[in-house]
Amino acid sequence: MDSVSLKTKVCIIGAGPAGTSTSIFLSRMGIDHIMVDAAEFPRDKICGDGLDIKTVRMLNHIDPDIIPNEILKNPEFTPSWGFRLLLENKKTMDFGRFPTSKEQQLEPPLFIAKRMMFDQFLQGKLDKTFVQFFQGTKVIELLRIDTDWKVLAKRNDGTEITIDANMIVGADGDHSIVLKNVGERMINRLHYAGALRQYWKGIDNMHPDNLIEIYFPKKYPMSYFWIFPQNNGEANVGYGMTSKIAADKSFNIREIFDSLLKTDSSLAERFANATPLEEVKGWGIPFASLNRQASGDGWLLVGDAASMVIPTTGEGIGTGMMTGYIAAHFIERAVKQNCYENSMFTNYTREIQRRVTDDVKLYKRLMSVSPNAMSFIMNNVVNNQLFRLYFENNLKKWIHTAYHKKVEVTL
Ligand SMILES: Cc1cc2nc3c(=O)[nH]c(=O)nc-3n(C[C@H](O)[C@H](O)[C@H](O)COP(=O)(O)OP(=O)(O)OC[C@H]3O[C@@H](n4cnc5c(N)ncnc54)[C@H](O)[C@@H]3O)c2cc1C
Repeated sequence: MDSVSLKTKVCIIGAGPAGTSTSIFLSRMGIDHIMVDAAEFPRDKICGDGLDIKTVRMLNHIDPDIIPNEILKNPEFTPSWGFRLLLENKKTMDFGRFPTSKEQQLEPPLFIAKRMMFDQFLQGKLDKTFVQFFQGTKVIELLRIDTDWKVLAKRNDGTEITIDANMIVGADGDHSIVLKNVGERMINRLHYAGALRQYWKGIDNMHPDNLIEIYFPKKYPMSYFWIFPQNNGEANVGYGMTSKIAADKSFNIREIFDSLLKTDSSLAERFANATPLEEVKGWGIPFASLNRQASGDGWLLVGDAASMVIPTTGEGIGTGMMTGYIAAHFIERAVKQNCYENSMFTNYTREIQRRVTDDVKLYKRLMSVSPNAMSFIMNNVVNNQLFRLYFENNLKKWIHTAYHKKVEVTL
């Protein structure tokens, strides 16, 4: 059997949005590194494919020309100008382009892009001067030897790769092998969700501004159903629920998803003549409310491995990319000082957690008041003019931040 030995200061394990962003920003800092991923790209990732405002902000950090010159000209990216709340009995409430304002909204706050394409698009921004990227290379074992790591991986062609590294970055998602080695991967159902995805085409009555559609069925607390439209007439349709609620109430989310599609008063008619394009697929969502310790001696976690998904929305692409951006700053200091002990990374967990404080607080509050609070608010409180004005004002600020404000990292 062929074998290869490599040596590096930094080895990133996983090349989804979090790992790839870490690599892109490390390259900006002139730091040589290796990145490996078990998959050959393009690869699918079960996801809603919604690129939220944090993703937009990170894309602008990579290069402010990406959105105007590449994304807006590429039909595989669908710009979305806001969201549509589905209420019961076919009622809807739209939060589209600043409807009550005289200002024109020029920049879309969201995009939808299939992960099969988006993750590879992002990898197109890797700088080969600084990164050696091995696809189809699965890490099977991690050994701590003195103050370094030995990363043992196997390529799809059977070649064994050994990588000696001063530090590792766990960017290998929800089933992280890095986390299994350095921390605790037990699932805490209060801070975790199960979610499903199914691509469809031909759904009736989609919005011309590609508003993403969200529905909080009253019968099922802490869960939501989504329809995220795509330019080609297809849509990413899915449903997710906090695992604690599913367990406590013995809900089966596949059965609920199926019954919503077939019988719900707000959905069934729209799906009556539509066609599913694949089997229903499921995956887990690790919430940031877990406050996972994300660093230690010679290691950092980013993205889902660090449990960084926003618990109220299920968005983890943007937070994953942001953890990559922040991690690169901590790694830069470690490389400069040639020291990879946790003392270099002490503030890393705080620094990534503070980007999601408000969302985490809101989630915890909702869960402590009543799990029904979320759907009550969405079905009643949001449906009023004051909320619309509040939302619109904030949206302007969020868009400005996403397009024009730099994330400041305090080491
Ligand atoms: C149904 C569903 C819907 C969602 N919808 C949205 C949404 O609309 N918007 C949003 O922002 N977020 C959404 N999320 C969350 C989002 O998908 C994740 O937060 C995001 O993919 C995290 O990125 P990541 O880079 O951390 O991990 P991943 O994207 O999971 O990438 C991890 C990579 O690590 C690789 N890997 C794993 N193990 C190994 C190993 N042993 N060796 C080498 N490589 C390995 C994998 O091949 C993979 O490429 C959704 C999640 C689910 C389940």
